[in-house]
Amino acid sequence: MSMPTKKAGDKIEICDLIRQAGIVGAGGAGFPAHVKLSGKADVVIANGVECEPLLETDRHLLLREADRVIIGLKASMKAVGAESGVIAVKRKHSDIIRLLEGLLQNTDKIKIFELDNFYPAGDEHVLLYETTGRVVPMGGIPLNVGAVVSNVHTLALIADSLEGKSFTHRYVTVTGEVNRPAVAKVPIGISIRDAIEGIAGGACSDRFSVIVGGPAMGKLENDLDKPVVKTTGGIIVLPGNHKLVEMKTQSLETAFKRARSVCCQCNFCTEMCPRFLLGHKLQPHKMMRLLPVTDGNIDHGSVYSAALCSECGLCGYYSCTMGLSPNLVNGFLKDVMGRNKI
Ligand code: SF4
Ligand code: SF4
Repeated sequence: MSMPTKKAGDKIEICDLIRQAGIVGAGGAGFPAHVKLSGKADVVIANGVECEPLLETDRHLLLREADRVIIGLKASMKAVGAESGVIAVKRKHSDIIRLLEGLLQNTDKIKIFELDNFYPAGDEHVLLYETTGRVVPMGGIPLNVGAVVSNVHTLALIADSLEGKSFTHRYVTVTGEVNRPAVAKVPIGISIRDAIEGIAGGACSDRFSVIVGGPAMGKLENDLDKPVVKTTGGIIVLPGNHKLVEMKTQSLETAFKRARSVCCQCNFCTEMCPRFLLGHKLQPHKMMRLLPVTDGNIDHGSVYSAALCSECGLCGYYSCTMGLSPNLVNGFLKDVMGRNKI
């Protein structure tokens, strides 16, 4: 009679504890952590690079719970059978690097990887390439190239789950036009309004807008009674007439009309697209050129490459000299494709 190996038992046990604790990717993706760890990989990368500007959530978590992150990373390595781990942080965060160096001096299986300060350093495809040189295939996931990428907050929660603790609290940055920008660990379920008032002393004026998430990938939220959820890493308060608010409230119809009339096909959006730079067949300038032909019609096969877009927003908020929004167009096409099960 063959007995189950200890390793298999460990994997099942770890994944089960994580599932029971209700842990999903706390970096914003919200993917169930136990599913991510159900495959096999040779490296696990802890994503602590704090992708979006303004947010300080990962940094504060690492300063307070770096030891928990390492426990979660080791458990994740065990679950997927990985021999090595990497903790990726930005070079500018020398305080975190010193802290981690102290905690990791007795292990050679986990390395610290320092990244420059660029966006979107935290996109898992970009991070994986920077740390290992591996390129995730188009439409694929890191497991396809033997890797798992997990946010540092998720890893700290995994450490909690091994002690039977559920995912009930998380770190949130509240910043922007508030009286006291701050990061705090709050119960899941408190309202956005209470988070703004309780953590940051309230908004500086009566007329403000709120972005939940980071400035680039976050979404505008009008209902401040909505709760902080497991994926809420940031709450940004901005004046109602801020350029970012204007861009995020732009209707698709307007985005389409502006693209048709002023896109000069300069190609900057494609040249700076992080997924294009990784070799993926995503060329936002071509999507803008196709608009008059397709009119948002997903039967036109060429629009399928929009599915490769991470919606990082770089093309719309930074690259385009004409103030156009290829990211919005791609997001729309992805949404339509999703609803049509393409
Ligand atoms: S950067 Fe702007 S103007 Fe240039 S091709 Fe892209 S969408 Fe068109
Ligand atoms: S949002 Fe723009 S820059 Fe970012 S991946 Fe999509 S097309 Fe590329």
